[in-house]
Amino acid sequence: MTDHIDSTAQGHAAKGWDLHCHSAYSDGTETPEGLVLEAKRLGLAGVGITDHDTWAGWDEAVTAAERYGVPLVRGTEITADVDGTCVHMLGLLYDPTDPVLCDLFATTRENRVKRMKKMVENLSADYPISWDDVVGQVKEGEQTTIGRPHIADAMVAMGFFENRSEAFKHTINKNSKYYVPIVSPSAKTVVKAVKHAGGVAIIAHPAGATRNRSILTDEQIADVASAGLDGLEVFHRENSPEQQRRLLGLAKELNLLTTGGSDWHGSGKPNLMGENTTDPDVVAEIEARGAIAIIR
Ligand SMILES: [Zn+2]
Ligand SMILES: [Zn+2]
Repeated sequence: MTDHIDSTAQGHAAKGWDLHCHSAYSDGTETPEGLVLEAKRLGLAGVGITDHDTWAGWDEAVTAAERYGVPLVRGTEITADVDGTCVHMLGLLYDPTDPVLCDLFATTRENRVKRMKKMVENLSADYPISWDDVVGQVKEGEQTTIGRPHIADAMVAMGFFENRSEAFKHTINKNSKYYVPIVSPSAKTVVKAVKHAGGVAIIAHPAGATRNRSILTDEQIADVASAGLDGLEVFHRENSPEQQRRLLGLAKELNLLTTGGSDWHGSGKPNLMGENTTDPDVVAEIEARGAIAIIR
């Protein structure tokens, strides 16, 4: 599923802050402690935990960050929608008890479970797969955000495919007959909820083309920015060098912060932690705007 991706961005592979990493609380393969330990092994300035639509891994990450002395930015990658285009938003350093944001997460999780169950039902017409087979692939139980990678893992475990990518290619990619579209809040709704919770809202990989046929236009990004957006994740392997130049110009025009992250998933994806990072002065600004502190 990632075969066509370009090599990583130049000049941002220094030992900065990697603000976009996943643990087994979503579709990563490592525990939050494993995530923190990887950042320590690499000597990064700091690391972010940004699982999909949940902050369930935060407590374990904080314990590990304090134990191993690795600065930690707590966040979440939130699935959103712009005119039918699937957009990921990074919400960083927000208050996790905020009722508006908690409601948004609860609704998203309900919709995700319904969608996943429907997709498994569709698959079961041709493959003997059940919901229990998918839940069996989930490392952290009920708290995990179940996604298509878990269905793929179940298909692999049952011997239908060699690996996740093959399972995606043949069964659960967007164009397959088994696919069920995501119901997501609009990007502006997500920005407003993150801001309500005192957090920092950033569009993740704004020019990533793996999820959609088209990428966000300047006008669409400007419209999301009008809701109070803080920044764009410019430095990410899914943004081509040309797109990174475009996004840098747009960020300047719209007065937005520019961040970088690897989108590390442990062994679940080829992305290497630290391959893209965020400058320390941007991290300082993010902390100044956030409702909660960086763990140091
Ligand atoms: Zn993403
Ligand atoms: Zn991600």
